Amino acid sequence: MKTKILVIEDERDISELVAYNLGKEGFAVSASANGEDALKTIRKEKFGLIILDLMLPGIQGMELCKILKSSVETSSIPIIMLTAKSEELDKVLGLEMGADDYITKPFSPRELIARVKAVLRRGHEKTAADKIIKAGDLEINTDTYQVSRRGTPVKLSATEFKLLLFLVKRKGRVFDRDMLLNAVWKDETYVEPRTVDVHIRRLREQIEDDPSNPVYIRTRRGIGYYVDGDL
Ligand code: CA
Repeated sequence: MKTKILVIEDERDISELVAYNLGKEGFAVSASANGEDALKTIRKEKFGLIILDLMLPGIQGMELCKILKSSVETSSIPIIMLTAKSEELDKVLGLEMGADDYITKPFSPRELIARVKAVLRRGHEKTAADKIIKAGDLEINTDTYQVSRRGTPVKLSATEFKLLLFLVKRKGRVFDRDMLLNAVWKDETYVEPRTVDVHIRRLREQIEDDPSNPVYIRTRRGIGYYVDGDL
């Protein structure tokens, strides 16, 4: 699917130049001539990137950038600011507003494309990496709910997955059975503390080389379970 890019720029020549060059590169481009229109468009459509001019009629580019970066729905959309002046101040301000990059006018189509691709690449790397939680050789993907060890998929039940994720996210802290019951089983009544032990044992059978000498999920005798903080 084509990445959708919104160009927010009141100067028609520049807006058209940007749209033309991005379109030629295979992006789907929309354009807004002011901030109010842009906000409406962003509410309706999902964009992969925004190119935002600093000098706009109505809501200024900087203000718009701040609005977009402070809202949960739009904060993850990368923004490249276009600045008319080459003053350092504008650049710094643009980035302080949370913009991901800036381009100073006049710019070449080649520079524009290079910046757009670099920002998009950075965004993808970040989101993919954010979803993977590691503990030693274990990788937990919180997006696909898959677990792998040394690259080999590990099959876990939903409860085992939740238990593992809970402990790995809190490496180094020891949890007793009641705490784990509250965290993983939540509202399920009539679950005995022993249930935790049963699931820990099953989990170990799946992820440990030697379940009786566990490396990932350790026992703190008389208290409960933990994942080593050094993993
Ligand atoms: Ca402008």
